[in-house]
Amino acid sequence: QAKAAGGNRIASYAEDGMAHVHRTEELRSALRHALSANALSLRYQPLYESSGALRGFEALLRWRHPKLGDISPAEFVPLAEQSGQIVEIGEWVLGEACRMLNRAEAKGLRQLVMSVNLSPLQLRAPGFVESLQHILDRTGTRPESLELEITESMMIDADDSMNTVLYRLRGMGIRIALDDFGVGYASLTYLRKLPLHTLKLDRSFIRHIGEQSAEHVIVRAMISLVHQLGFEVVAEGVETEDQFRLLREWGCNFYQGYLLAGPLEEEAVGAHLLKHACRVFRAPCDERVAV
Ligand code: C2E
Ligand code: MG
Ligand code: MG
Ligand code: MG
Repeated sequence: QAKAAGGNRIASYAEDGMAHVHRTEELRSALRHALSANALSLRYQPLYESSGALRGFEALLRWRHPKLGDISPAEFVPLAEQSGQIVEIGEWVLGEACRMLNRAEAKGLRQLVMSVNLSPLQLRAPGFVESLQHILDRTGTRPESLELEITESMMIDADDSMNTVLYRLRGMGIRIALDDFGVGYASLTYLRKLPLHTLKLDRSFIRHIGEQSAEHVIVRAMISLVHQLGFEVVAEGVETEDQFRLLREWGCNFYQGYLLAGPLEEEAVGAHLLKHACRVFRAPCDERVAV
């Protein structure tokens, strides 16, 4: 009997494996048409300053598959990287994000920073800097209002040419942020080699800071380290009042997380800014939030 159960389990693992392969293949082929089928969209997650003023947004990619529903970028971005499509998709993301920033500024939100996630393939793609310059020109976006997020893991095997591109971007006035800081790469020496403005502390550190934990000590020390290096710190994944209070005490510059807001549809941004921001900060709202 045990043998039969074991046999069934193996069969069901095999079926799961098949289902997974099947799903991946289905996603892969549908992804080819996702952009032209208008199935991609962006959400905008607000980032706030300690004062409650809006710092800006992170643009987060979404894909609605006709049959399978919403697919997480964690699942489909790697597929788009394998096919090379991420370069074209990433360019679309940059254009969309810049146009949203324009619309937000036209509604009276000023001096915002729009953060956009970058794939290493984009940094390596020939003509990336030129195409980005073209997007900025066409959309009339100030380079200082765009922040490109790179990850530690993508800089581990960065060649000199990737670094050169980053320095060219900085030369244009674009901001560079290191995303998911603390999980990818232990060495800190490379922090001096990259042209960074901002470090985003990964949410895996933020999760446990409310307790008497190692993370408590680590996050506090990381904030101080990052400041001494001359960068600004964003805390990702702020979900509780306790986390928020501690991070504020420790001098964190910017906050992003479900406590403040999740990723929003553009249409929902105005209402969010009016209703929710003031609740968390318990302070008079900055005039900039009154859309
Ligand atoms: P990320 O850049 O680290 O983005 C933050 C992720 O954390 C987002 O997941 C966001 O929805 C989620 N998040 C925000 N606040 C909280 C919180 O308080 N608690 C928790 N548990 N999660 C929170 P999302 O949107 O699913 O994106 C996942 C990843 O996909 C991103 O991680 C980023 O690496 C990648 N990604 C998203 N958009 C793009 C894009 O346009 N291009 C590229 N290359 N990658 C993208
Ligand atoms: Mg990011
Ligand atoms: Mg992140
Ligand atoms: Mg993260």
